[in-house]
Amino acid sequence: MADAERPVSMKQADELVELGKQSSRYANPNPDRVDCPSAHTLRAMALRSRQLSLTDAPIAHVANCSPCYQQYCRYREEEIQRSRRRYAAFAICAAAAIIVAVLIGRNVLRSPASNSKPSIVDRRPTQEKEKGPAAESPQPQLLALDLSHISPSRGDDEPGQKAQGLVMPAKALKLEVVLPVASPPGSYELGVFSVAHIMQHSAKGTATLDKGVTRLSVSTDLTSLKSGAYLIGVRTALSDWMFTPVTIR
Ligand SMILES: [Zn+2]
Repeated sequence: MADAERPVSMKQADELVELGKQSSRYANPNPDRVDCPSAHTLRAMALRSRQLSLTDAPIAHVANCSPCYQQYCRYREEEIQRSRRRYAAFAICAAAAIIVAVLIGRNVLRSPASNSKPSIVDRRPTQEKEKGPAAESPQPQLLALDLSHISPSRGDDEPGQKAQGLVMPAKALKLEVVLPVASPPGSYELGVFSVAHIMQHSAKGTATLDKGVTRLSVSTDLTSLKSGAYLIGVRTALSDWMFTPVTIR
């Protein structure tokens, strides 16, 4: 593109404005508007239209014709005002968009948070509430205890190999005890003794006979007992204790 065909640049237009200011608005009266360009051309120049090439821009004429210069200045001022309004409108729109975005963001953040946070807050105390009483009175651990091998005649005199495997945790327990063979159903007492036969803990329950097996269901709480070797004993109201070793951990 030849220089003459280039659009009027901002710099060139500004230079023209300065030139016009210097020559004054009224230094070159042209009351008959001789050789004046059309209003469309002056406006295109004022608007920095890319459609107007440097060759077509009547720069020299405007600089030497006060009416054209004034007209050009008017168009230019209008364009500047329009640009300011456009910018102001854009700024207002941008500000409004930002405000809307912020409000939406706050609502988006607030609603899930306000829905989830209290539910977490509510849930945790609930868990702690569940945990609190549970620590005081924990759900008993179900434990099967096979005492079918013990008998009054053997007792602690002959603890036996089978008894060595008996282990009970120092917890609240719900024991399902298989009583010695041929034990009658009915009320039983189950005791935990030190190895010196001092009762540490006892609990009572009712045994039932089921398919030849006598089973005693009894709840007990061994949390107060230290870990170590103990004896576990069972008896009816009419019988002596039958002991067998047990390890409490
Ligand atoms: Zn003119």
